[in-house]
Amino acid sequence: MSFTIELLPAFADNYIFLVSDRDLGLAMVVDPGDGDVVLRALKERELYLALILNTHHHSDHIGGNDKLQLEFGAPIIGPAKEKGFIPGISRAVSHGDTLTFSALRGEVLATHGHTDGHVSYYFPQIKALFCGDALFSLGCGRLYEGNTTEMWESLKLLRALPDDTNIYCAHEKSADNAKFALAIDKNNEALKLRAAEIDALRKQGKPTIPVTMGVEKLCNPFLRTDQPDLRRALAKAGVAAEDADAAAVFGMLRSAKDHFGQQRI
Ligand code: ZN
Ligand code: FE
Repeated sequence: MSFTIELLPAFADNYIFLVSDRDLGLAMVVDPGDGDVVLRALKERELYLALILNTHHHSDHIGGNDKLQLEFGAPIIGPAKEKGFIPGISRAVSHGDTLTFSALRGEVLATHGHTDGHVSYYFPQIKALFCGDALFSLGCGRLYEGNTTEMWESLKLLRALPDDTNIYCAHEKSADNAKFALAIDKNNEALKLRAAEIDALRKQGKPTIPVTMGVEKLCNPFLRTDQPDLRRALAKAGVAAEDADAAAVFGMLRSAKDHFGQQRI
């Protein structure tokens, strides 16, 4: 079994993920916001598109659905709660559903919050998580449709995946996210190391994705909202009481991030 996962850059900072089975010449694409980018990559690699996955209905994730389906007739899998907004959807999935691509089995995880029905796709055999705009390296998606409790539950669900899971998130936002993370979690040595790594990769024009869940669990403040050392630091800074509810602290961090710098996700 040999599979390749490639990052196809699109728009300002999106990644479209191309998973291919080179033996069979088949490909699966995750969140094809730009159909032309995917068509070009498939042609160059002489791959046939067998499956399209969407994590949520935002246009930078579904924009290429129609074009790709017209060309290949590939089925489109997307979140059941957003099926009315996913062009060409052939199968609507919810938490606990499974899917197959070639010899791979994927599991659907409910990661609501950024949008009402946002889902993530986890492929244990290749240790890959495609989490769209739910979780980013050192950050998480903005709450456009869901509430803080939902998003915190989603992040806890992702955090429970094995440490060696590779996180394929849909945006290259790590460098901006690092600024906020360092501002609120100054003494975190693992975070400082990851921030330095991000800095070095970006200077070379390289992606900072994938990153492992093990690293994110140590560094990402949004995954660390209930960790005693971060809670102590926040209490010391007068931001939140040490015994405050984790979902509430998460919500507070999320809105602090919304007003930090110019970033909009
Ligand atoms: Zn989005
Ligand atoms: Fe997005």
